Amino acid sequence: MKKQYSAPYIERNAAGSTNKYAHRSVLSHLDNIDHVPIGNLIKEHGSPLFVFSERQIRRTYRHLTDVIQMQYPNSEISWSYKTNYLGAICSIYHQEGAKAECVSGMEYEMAKRLGVEGKNIIFNGPGKRRNEIVNAVNDGARLHIDHLEELYLIEKVSDELGIIPEVAIRINMDTGIYPMWTRFGFNYENGEAFRAVQRLLTGKKMKLVGLHVHQGTFILDAFSYYWVAQKLLTLAQQIKEQFDVVVDYIDVGGGFASQNALHAQYTPAEYATPSYDQYAAAIGNAFNESRFVREHEPRLILETGRVLVDEAGYLLSRVIGRKNLPTGERAVILDAGVNINITAWWYKQRVRPTRPFAGSYQNTVFYGPLCMNIDLIRPAMPFPDLQSGDVVVVSPVGAYNVTQWMQFIEYRPNVILISETGAVEVIREREELADVISREHIPEHLIRI
Ligand SMILES: *Cc1c(COP(=O)(O)O)cnc(C)c1O
Repeated sequence: MKKQYSAPYIERNAAGSTNKYAHRSVLSHLDNIDHVPIGNLIKEHGSPLFVFSERQIRRTYRHLTDVIQMQYPNSEISWSYKTNYLGAICSIYHQEGAKAECVSGMEYEMAKRLGVEGKNIIFNGPGKRRNEIVNAVNDGARLHIDHLEELYLIEKVSDELGIIPEVAIRINMDTGIYPMWTRFGFNYENGEAFRAVQRLLTGKKMKLVGLHVHQGTFILDAFSYYWVAQKLLTLAQQIKEQFDVVVDYIDVGGGFASQNALHAQYTPAEYATPSYDQYAAAIGNAFNESRFVREHEPRLILETGRVLVDEAGYLLSRVIGRKNLPTGERAVILDAGVNINITAWWYKQRVRPTRPFAGSYQNTVFYGPLCMNIDLIRPAMPFPDLQSGDVVVVSPVGAYNVTQWMQFIEYRPNVILISETGAVEVIREREELADVISREHIPEHLIRI
């Protein structure tokens, strides 16, 4: 085979030295996922390819539940569907004992399809439609109320159905995380949340079972969860004292950060991302201090998504071509773009080669195949000299990609799961033209061109 030509360049060889975080400046390569060779996966299932590790998903789930239960045994996780609602992935969490947290009628239907009972579904989201509320009330799901008009609508529906539904109030609050997410639920500090509870209890058409905050996502300050729990428990105590109503649960939402790094973040993930213990301790401290907890032992609910699945997902992608940019940087065109890896817009994902390389590194930008300037997978990082046809691993990509991906310009690729036995299962097939056009209709007069 003819050797490929790569242009000569001179660069100081930094191999072996370390940066200020004591990171080796040599990239380690990854040639397998859970001992399955990456070359075989690509040969069998094509490129690009999403790969999920069942072993990693289960291990992470058990680790997080262990750590939380060590702090407070009466706790449980509701899996956040929008983070990754592939049926196979959700089913793993449900097998592990997770309940379901849904933010739309579509996600609600997905949870029901997988056999989750209504009583194990939390129905969140600011845009619940009347028919979706009817279904949820009939099924005995728990509705988390976002605003007053929704509260009135649920009252009306419950009245019509003659059912008293179990509900929680969603609350937003200052936890030291800015910009504050104020658009969901009722505000804590200005008393709106308390008044919503008062209105709900006066109506006597619903049973208030919980108080809920989801303060945001990729929260790097673990201590903010102390304030979430502390303020919710204070409100629970007030509700007990003023209305003699005891809520069953305190729901601190999701938002734990994964081992990823925001573009603006200078510190690497391994130093910036709090450990599970730090998050759990922040919540546990608030619970330990609380009189409401001593007297009523409410359930602690987490609606975790990102941290459970992000690192269990990998994107394999082949190098289509290479070029030099006028900036002096090397550019690599991958066959995976932001159409399938949309979180590349927010995070500096790790890109790793799948074979060892000798020689020096050059600043390399990774683009996708889309004819769009925004199709940037990874801003410049020092990288060895890849050849066309080489495969790279982009990670972590398990959270928010196989849900937010777009049907745009290209077909979406195969998604596979490496099971605990090492068996490789396709959990979502690569799309083809029929999938993309199956819902289209061309009017009669346009059929001939
Ligand atoms: C998205 C979402 C979650 C999950 O958030 P992560 O950051 O993925 O953990 C939990 N609760 C609600 C209400 C959400 O909207």
